[in-house]
Amino acid sequence: MTHDHEHEGEEHRQALLDKYMTERGLKTTRQRTLIMETFFQSGGHQSVEEVWARVRKTDTRVSVATVYRTMKLLAESGLAHARDFGDGQTRYEAALGRHHHDHLICTNCKKIIEFENDRIEALQDVVARRHGFKVNSHKMELYGLCRDCQRLS
Ligand SMILES: [Zn+2]
Ligand SMILES: [Zn+2]
Repeated sequence: MTHDHEHEGEEHRQALLDKYMTERGLKTTRQRTLIMETFFQSGGHQSVEEVWARVRKTDTRVSVATVYRTMKLLAESGLAHARDFGDGQTRYEAALGRHHHDHLICTNCKKIIEFENDRIEALQDVVARRHGFKVNSHKMELYGLCRDCQRLS
């Protein structure tokens, strides 16, 4: 028998979500489930509007307010990270089963590039230690122009 990691992640996600919902007396509705599935299947960094546009391909009755509330719920339960890349629009990305990474953000075309750098991570620890600071989390965002947009300017 083969064991599928992705499937395991999905079960883990569902279990966490069920626990969160039960604790708060929230009901899993068909619309909420559709929104969550659409979000997790699409991947990347999605705004509420983007998730809504995808969800509406399946069900046009879903309101943007429901998507907004569901994405907030995902962020509060720890299943998604809410990101603000400085353009006033919150973007969500899946949190579970993803390695820590940071972001390069193109201010022209809004492209978001993910990166991981062990030396940057280690240097942050050095800085924190020097200040007697205990870091719980961090985000590194570098803003500028991507390769394509530099070529155009
Ligand atoms: Zn660009
Ligand atoms: Zn990311």
